[in-house]
Amino acid sequence: MLQSVEGRTLVGMEVAELETLLGKAHPRYRARQIYDALYRQQVAELSEISALPKDLRNQLLISTPLGLPTVERRYDSKDGTRRYLLRLGDNRTVEAVLMPEETRDTICISSQVGCPVDCKFCLTALMGLERNLTAGEMVGQVLHVARENALRPTDSRLNVVMMGMGEPLLNLENVLKATRLLTDSTGIGLSPKRITVSTSGIVPKIEELGRMEIRPKLAISLNASTEEQRRELMPITRKYHLKDLLEACRSYPLRPWEKLSFEYVLLKDVNDTDADARRVVKLVAHMNCKVNLIALNPGPGIPFESPDAERVESFQRIVRNAMPCFVRKPRGRDIFAACGQLKRVASDLIEIG
Ligand code: SAH
Ligand code: SF4
Repeated sequence: MLQSVEGRTLVGMEVAELETLLGKAHPRYRARQIYDALYRQQVAELSEISALPKDLRNQLLISTPLGLPTVERRYDSKDGTRRYLLRLGDNRTVEAVLMPEETRDTICISSQVGCPVDCKFCLTALMGLERNLTAGEMVGQVLHVARENALRPTDSRLNVVMMGMGEPLLNLENVLKATRLLTDSTGIGLSPKRITVSTSGIVPKIEELGRMEIRPKLAISLNASTEEQRRELMPITRKYHLKDLLEACRSYPLRPWEKLSFEYVLLKDVNDTDADARRVVKLVAHMNCKVNLIALNPGPGIPFESPDAERVESFQRIVRNAMPCFVRKPRGRDIFAACGQLKRVASDLIEIG
């Protein structure tokens, strides 16, 4: 009989782990069959794995659940964005967001329940950290959202960004495992060019990430144009100075097809002046990068305002002179699905009326 282990699930296991799970009582190829069913066929229930003998299926059923999340609630925005409140095995909930566009679809997944990094403009920060997500829980968000919307990860339309709740580089081991599972061409088969991780700037982990062979693309949440300003907005800067963060970016080993992304949340009258834009250009000059501007998505308890459209345009014009610079369209603000608005509880909707 297979041993049941608290919290252990099939989704999240690599082939070697499945082989260990089955042990000597089953032929080795069964592990590959399960892997194929989980990640290539993307079954939603163990009973769908028809290639397995009934006895093994029953043993798995008793000992090792699939571990896919269940939907607690889904919020549909008028712009097509869908926010999923997903329930995990221990009854905690996290959020995943689907953003369909004309030429591509993006699934934004969470890496932690809550976040320990105390950025002053972000709603998730108000939750604090509850726990890290497992690789299976990250992969499960993608599998669930893809299945429900008939999206195929092997299709070049689909992108995955780890920009939901949490600071992914404080959960690097699981983020890397999730990336391996998502991009394995014998499994889920997402292109490595279509998965991105965003970080508030955990310098040693950026260096570690750069040494990995299989890794997501990297986005850095810059959000300020001076050391002092960043320390106010993102207190993590006291531990990992902006200067050192930029140095880690400069020496980051990009792959031939890769650019670094810098995210910059514009806060009215705080970091959105033309002088800020010019300083940003100087900070990231000579890097192979692009800059994504995000006008603040406001929220209850967030002491900042969103800048006017003209301010955003002026900022963009200055940066664009030096490097590619895009303005991220706010998506799903009406359902609290936009960047920095993920805070899990259904009452969010009531708060914004
Ligand atoms: N913790 C990681 C990834 C999740 S946050 C990080 O900070 O990079 C994803 C993005 O949302 C970050 O670029 C962050 O700066 C941005 N963000 C946070 N709060 C926001 C808000 N209220 N409005 C707009 N963007 C926000
Ligand atoms: Fe955490 Fe990112 Fe929000 Fe900062 S912006 S609190 S790092 S989720």
